[in-house]
Amino acid sequence: MAPETHDGPNFCLAHLGETKDLRQYRFQHPALPVAAPGKVFLQELLGLTGMEISFGLMPPGRSMPFHHKHRNNEEVYLFLRGRGQFQIDGQVHDVREGTVIRVSPEGSRSWRNHSTEDLFYVCIQAKAGSIEGGTTTDGMGVPGPVIWPPQA
Ligand code: ZN
Repeated sequence: MAPETHDGPNFCLAHLGETKDLRQYRFQHPALPVAAPGKVFLQELLGLTGMEISFGLMPPGRSMPFHHKHRNNEEVYLFLRGRGQFQIDGQVHDVREGTVIRVSPEGSRSWRNHSTEDLFYVCIQAKAGSIEGGTTTDGMGVPGPVIWPPQA
């Protein structure tokens, strides 16, 4: 199922639905025999040009069936709900709501949900070493007041 989207000259918005409903999305990875439920990528959906972002919902008892690494991209995993474990180069770390992990491109990684509740996370990929500024060095204020339409 394709999410509802709205776009304009300088934006693209998508309503992915509630996190529990992420199961409806399926991702067919060439290394997997069947499509993985609960994974949705945003690069194509939003027209991202500097990063890839995916939402992931891993049900209880599931794990990634392989390790992976990247050629150029570092990744940040933001764990937003649930509990599980993340393995990097053989080191295992517990993850839970509020855990964030950066993994270098060459880091061999995998994760699992060994709990009894869904594990919900967001993964952001960007080319390692590409950022040239951040919030205060890249952002610029726009003159004029902030005006909102009256609430309907
Ligand atoms: Zn990855």
